[in-house]
Amino acid sequence: MRYQSTRGHAEQRTFSEILLAGLAPDGGLYMPVEYPQISADDLESWRGLSYADVAFEVLSRFADDIPTETLRTLTRETYTAERYSNVRAGENAADITPLLPLGDENGTPLSILALSNGPTLAFKDMAMQLLGALFEYALARDGSELNILGATSGDTGSAAEYAMRGRRGIRVFMLSPNGKMSAFQRAQMFSLDDPNIVNLAVEGVFDDCQAIVKAVSSDLDYKAHQKIGTVNSINWARVVAQVAYYFHGWLLATDGPGQKVSFAVPSGNFGNVCAGHIARMMGLPIENLVVATNENDVLDEFFRTGVYRVRAAAETHHTSSPSMDISKASNFERFLFDLLGRDTERVAEVFREIDETGVLDLSGMPEFARIHEFGFVSGRSTHADRVATIREVSETYGVVIDPHTADGIHVARQHLSPGIPMLALETALPAKFAEIIREALGRDPERPASFEGIEDLPQRVEVVPADYMQIKELIAARTGL
Ligand SMILES: *Cc1c(COP(=O)(O)O)cnc(C)c1O
Repeated sequence: MRYQSTRGHAEQRTFSEILLAGLAPDGGLYMPVEYPQISADDLESWRGLSYADVAFEVLSRFADDIPTETLRTLTRETYTAERYSNVRAGENAADITPLLPLGDENGTPLSILALSNGPTLAFKDMAMQLLGALFEYALARDGSELNILGATSGDTGSAAEYAMRGRRGIRVFMLSPNGKMSAFQRAQMFSLDDPNIVNLAVEGVFDDCQAIVKAVSSDLDYKAHQKIGTVNSINWARVVAQVAYYFHGWLLATDGPGQKVSFAVPSGNFGNVCAGHIARMMGLPIENLVVATNENDVLDEFFRTGVYRVRAAAETHHTSSPSMDISKASNFERFLFDLLGRDTERVAEVFREIDETGVLDLSGMPEFARIHEFGFVSGRSTHADRVATIREVSETYGVVIDPHTADGIHVARQHLSPGIPMLALETALPAKFAEIIREALGRDPERPASFEGIEDLPQRVEVVPADYMQIKELIAARTGL
């Protein structure tokens, strides 16, 4: 399989070549030159496979330059019941992403696809854990090393650290805003004692952390010499690892060929639902992909109106589903590439327009008229909707959900079709978001046993000024490069 840039001005590459890459050199995103097709017969033959083996089947179509047996081993070592053990009553840990039926709503079976049973209680573990294994393998193969520099306001940083901890050839330098994360998030990240994990609490806000990563990464000599890389959400391997749970979810929810299901996806940077789009393009029988946003409704606006409007910083809301607080959706370009018929010149032109004006208006275009052929529908959810949905799902079904999943279920309910199962993706466990759970239910969320007392563990973190020169020196001193 070869990968091309959405903007058409970069050389085609193999999976291994883009594994550690971010943007293509022309500023586009890497996409496979074609989607491998999974027939109904193939799909039926996957029934009864473990999650790891479904992931292997999907990955092997995209990562065909990694030896088959290596890929098989990496997926089996990654997707184990021990690693995805934070299940609740009614869920089977062996399923890795268990299906938790809620009930029948107007003739539609509604269930939760539990994606957040991994080490950091969020769905980002699904891709990040595999990425850790793939990186370690590729670096060992090439005799190379990698220093991951990232900025986090909470969730992504911990998923990256738990995926990379203890891995040979990899160090993580993770910047977070000093004193701005929750006690739980701090404990989760700072209690890691692996020597290859370096937590840096920056005296500033999240934007300062991001600006430092940008400043350090834009010094190309330094970046090359220090072997600096990132694990951001545009990484192709991250997207493709997520395709696996759409297939596995479909297998759990159906019992015969051709049966359709819909997925509701709490969305921010469009990575998760982009994986659903890819699964659908590969032939998975998906009726609808329900894009759920919070008050930051860039994507909902686009799917309703055809207008994609990047939000200014002042227009970006801090909400109670914070992992969906985005001003633009960094993976959206991947879908636009398909929507525009893979015309790379048009994609390049459209993104020049977005860069210049902040707006793309496809409302009058024939492409937008065909958007429903891709199965997308959308909706938005507010703080009041989240609180009401958390309360209502708890009262009706006895299941406590996190605020992002609540956004998904709120919007899913506007798009139910009788007889077509609706699978709401659970993108985090409620234990991570105690405040809104207390507001909705008047009590604290349950904590998985492995997180009891985590705030009492010793913490390792260095407070640093918001000065990228000092951070460059610190990194160089640690890497010894
Ligand atoms: C990252 C995240 C999302 C958004 O996923 P995207 O791939 O950015 O669309 C939703 N919910 C939670 C809990 C997340 O951490």
